[in-house]
Amino acid sequence: MSTAATSFPERNAAEVADLVLSPEVAAPEVLARRARQRRQMYIGQVASYSLGASVLLLYAYAGAVAMAVPSLFWLGGLLIIGTFTVLSEAGFGDRFEDHYLTVFQISAHMALQLVFLLAVPTVGVTFIAVLFLIFAFGTLRMTSRQAMLTWGLATGGLALVFLGSDLPIGLPVATRLERTASMLCFVLVIGQCAFLGLFGATLRKILYRRSIELKAAYQRIEELAELDELTGSYNRRCIMRLLDAEIEKSRQASTPCAIALIDLDWFKRINDAHGHPVGDEVLRTFAITMFANIRPADCFGRYGGEEFLLLLPDTSGDAAQRMLERLRCIVADLDWSAFSLNMHLTISAGVVTLRDVDTADTFLARADRALYSAKAQGRNRIATS
Ligand code: GH3
Ligand code: MG
Ligand code: MG
Repeated sequence: MSTAATSFPERNAAEVADLVLSPEVAAPEVLARRARQRRQMYIGQVASYSLGASVLLLYAYAGAVAMAVPSLFWLGGLLIIGTFTVLSEAGFGDRFEDHYLTVFQISAHMALQLVFLLAVPTVGVTFIAVLFLIFAFGTLRMTSRQAMLTWGLATGGLALVFLGSDLPIGLPVATRLERTASMLCFVLVIGQCAFLGLFGATLRKILYRRSIELKAAYQRIEELAELDELTGSYNRRCIMRLLDAEIEKSRQASTPCAIALIDLDWFKRINDAHGHPVGDEVLRTFAITMFANIRPADCFGRYGGEEFLLLLPDTSGDAAQRMLERLRCIVADLDWSAFSLNMHLTISAGVVTLRDVDTADTFLARADRALYSAKAQGRNRIATS
């Protein structure tokens, strides 16, 4: 995702998403990123209080409130924001899982609205509208417990104002200017709520995208843990695990099971004549050839160096020998001229079928003996034991 191409809410939500996924990581760069996110949030809060103060200023011009109210409201907000900014810059919140100190911030801002609601009830609805905004902001970060707690505090505060007093909570609409200020109050709060909603939706979208990316990465890790890097065949650990499973399955289902230990003939000479990188390419091409010519149920893995193990489930000794003979011919007939004009490659293989007394070790040892005998007989052949 290109940072330059992403919009403001998306970019910020991406950072928050990152944070949600790694709450306990406290590396210096993570702490620096968190501090940056908090700074952005405080700037947003200052902007929000400035908008609120502008509405109050209109009310003041309309004569609905004293001239000091807008600046006191703005200064009150700035005092809270300033306090949390100082704490944030000192890294105070970093020791907590919720480094934003959401509950404390919401409680402080809520208390300020309730104080103004009590002090200037004639424009009380303005402060109640800001309460909505505070909660809309809080829902982005609050856990359900925090939401219940702050909701409880808000209920207590509102009950105190509405039930504990007879104050006339007002929304001035007597003059054109008052009506304009009241309308602006709602328009601005709705606009800020919409912005927060957009931010939350983007956050969800990014989290969803991240979870899909994570799943794909996890799948790739699993694949890498099972596959040999050079040839793309199963690695030794995996093919040995599959051998154990195949033996077990064959015993349970009473079906035959064959394996073949395949070794490239005179491979050292290919390395010596053409270099190790060409040897690597030959190994890769050999593996691709094998993949193209074995059955879907067969398992092909790198046993070590230029030696491979082929598992042939539900296959009799005769069928396994025929199959290996076919593979031997395919490799011998391959055109290797792309590597070098006079290059030839052959394979030898030891093929064995599972006996009742076999363990994975004895099974493999028999295949190894058969392979040794194929080599001893002159290579480019299949032997059994
Ligand atoms: P034989 O017919 O008896 O098997 O002869 P050989 O030359 O194939 O056998 P040897 O065991 O003497 O040599 C195997 C060679 O395979 C030596 C080693 O350098 C090479 N080899 C093993 N793994 C790799 C690899 O990943 N890449 C390359 N290029 N060569 C490898
Ligand atoms: Mg060899
Ligand atoms: Mg070898």
